[in-house]
Amino acid sequence: MNLIEGRRVVAENELQANGITGYHVTKFYREQIIKSGYYDQLKYIVEPSSQELENRGSLDTSGEHDNTVMPGLQHKYPPTGLLLVTDRCVSYCRFCFRKRLFGKDSDEIVHDFAQVAGYIGDHPEMTNVLLSGGDPFVLSTAKLDKILDYLLPISHLETIRFGTKTLAYEPKRFEDPALPALFQRIHKAGKTAVIVTHFDHIGEISVDAERNIRLLRAQEVQFLNQSVLLAKVNDDPKILAATFAKCHQMGVRPYYLFQSRPVKGASHFQLPLRRGIEVARGINQRLSGNEKTFKYIMSHYTGKIEILDLGADDRLYMRYHQNKTPEKIGRIFSRPHLEGACWLDDLPEA
Ligand code: SF4
Repeated sequence: MNLIEGRRVVAENELQANGITGYHVTKFYREQIIKSGYYDQLKYIVEPSSQELENRGSLDTSGEHDNTVMPGLQHKYPPTGLLLVTDRCVSYCRFCFRKRLFGKDSDEIVHDFAQVAGYIGDHPEMTNVLLSGGDPFVLSTAKLDKILDYLLPISHLETIRFGTKTLAYEPKRFEDPALPALFQRIHKAGKTAVIVTHFDHIGEISVDAERNIRLLRAQEVQFLNQSVLLAKVNDDPKILAATFAKCHQMGVRPYYLFQSRPVKGASHFQLPLRRGIEVARGINQRLSGNEKTFKYIMSHYTGKIEILDLGADDRLYMRYHQNKTPEKIGRIFSRPHLEGACWLDDLPEA
């Protein structure tokens, strides 16, 4: 196997035992990261490393199995349904927390959209769905249209979100002449179409990505961005502030900066919480008021936790941004800080 650290012979069973994703990256992205001048940082996003052979971590860090109500549909928070519509992506991120899906025909993706629509129809509290995977834009527009056949008639669904990194990996996918009609269908059904982009670094935002975002925005598509805080890639407030400012300039609102999860074979991307807080603070110091739209979030088994600050009492202060129990949302809580801690579970409960 070609690893960042050099060539190494890795047995097939070692790959499987460690849940190592096959190497696949688009020509466009390879060229973009070289052209951007940030290859030395961005290579870690797509190129395999010997550190993936370490065993720490889990393949389901956010309790996705426990929140799966039928194959391919997760219902963790009352208003949101998460649909895994594919187990493929156009390129594979080495830090992905869904890497368990890749390289085999996963039984975790939706195989019966009628059944999924039936469940959503029976849950009026679910006002939005997120199409994820994998990346929904590996599917043809015709296939996405078929999925909408099931979702658009559900009157209480207000928003259809698409989570995608294809705008970084293969932005020309969004030049498909059939796509405007897809988004118009959503609009005509009285619902909001939202594309959640995944730019981790300013060097990933190509001219093509920007052009396509601007074209889709003109067609009533709203844009949000989520990023993952990644050691060696973007653990630099200057870079992330530039990324978020660029997103705002294109009409893409940054909303989550995720603390990297303790994913098996990808924990080396995690940054200690102390450093993460410094980075988040450094980003905010560089952005104007209207650009400070992101939250630094740990997507934990118990819910989405906003990481607020490390107090003078050496406790880490946090707040539930999302929780299965609505009463917990917005409540500030704290844990004693331990040097080097990267995740809630690394902190004692006292
Ligand atoms: S594009 Fe998204 S789903 Fe696909 S490998 Fe990257 S993070 Fe995972």
